[in-house]
Amino acid sequence: MNEGPIGPYRLKLDRAALASNWRQLNEWSGTANTGAAVKADGYGLGARNVVPILLDAGCRDFFVATWEEARTIAPLIGDATLSVLNGVREEDMPRTISLNAKPVLNTSAQVKRWATTGRPCDVMVDSGMNRLGFDMRSFEPESLTQLDIDICMSHLASADEDVSQNDMQRAAYCAAYEKIPHRRTSLANSAGIMLGNDYHFDLTRPGLSLYGGIPRNEMREGLSQVVFPQAQILQKRSIRAGDKIGYNATHVAASEGTIAIVGIGYADGYFRCFSSVGHFSSDGIDLPVIGRVSMDLVALDISKADQLQEGDWVDLPFDLPQLSGQSGMSQYELLTSLGPRAERHWIAP
Ligand SMILES: *Cc1c(COP(=O)(O)O)cnc(C)c1O
Repeated sequence: MNEGPIGPYRLKLDRAALASNWRQLNEWSGTANTGAAVKADGYGLGARNVVPILLDAGCRDFFVATWEEARTIAPLIGDATLSVLNGVREEDMPRTISLNAKPVLNTSAQVKRWATTGRPCDVMVDSGMNRLGFDMRSFEPESLTQLDIDICMSHLASADEDVSQNDMQRAAYCAAYEKIPHRRTSLANSAGIMLGNDYHFDLTRPGLSLYGGIPRNEMREGLSQVVFPQAQILQKRSIRAGDKIGYNATHVAASEGTIAIVGIGYADGYFRCFSSVGHFSSDGIDLPVIGRVSMDLVALDISKADQLQEGDWVDLPFDLPQLSGQSGMSQYELLTSLGPRAERHWIAP
């Protein structure tokens, strides 16, 4: 199940919550089908475990960023489809040959490269984000006639906000897919699903919300937390008033108390911005972070939970919107930074 040594930092991952988030997003997607973005190793959770759970829930369309990611996932997906969002470079061509995956073509050089294979692909059109995708102002529809295009998609820049850019992108997208032969249409990411039926088209592509991220407030009801980080106490110490704690002595104890040094740090995605402001907990008791977060260690004030001992595990409350507000980092960054050192334990339903 788990390879390598048992570290002092682990992620409990809730299978049932992941499956139920997909089903909820599928319900919110109305009559559209619902895919899943599993890029960046399933947003840090581990794509090898995420994909079978989503397949089981009913997902039939998966999205990754790179061909390396596709290589990991392709053997797991059976007759589901797999799209590579970053397109196909010359360097990628050798590894596309034996892989059951489609590039999302973004440029005419990619079209030329792929047309010779005769295999299916997807196409990304830019509808106003100016990231990847064909610029419809200079687009020549004839250039795509040799392709077997499954999904003609675009991507929303600001679906987590109620701004006019959403409607403008939707209109630009509708004008674009009219000009491109395709089997299926797709526009919405997690947040885009909440913009209503007009944004669902044939297929939605949530990522963040599958894993418990909440890009729009109204999604809080209905989605469940999937990731539950825990860190182990490596040392417990008594401190006296005036004791300095951690790098640069940013915390000086005001009174005597007890602290615990736990085995998680910024190299595990628990960033330095949580220094002196983060919180852990144990059985509902709040355990504030004191002083600087180190690379592999954090000091917690456990004066109110003195029964905790070396070897015990404490919880890192992982409410993504709240942590995002506290740290100034996006929910996406917090999830994808969880780090390769974490032990991952999937909890059965
Ligand atoms: C990452 C990504 C998604 C998923 O977006 P979320 O905001 O995580 O739901 C969908 N489509 C494209 C093109 C993406 O790059």
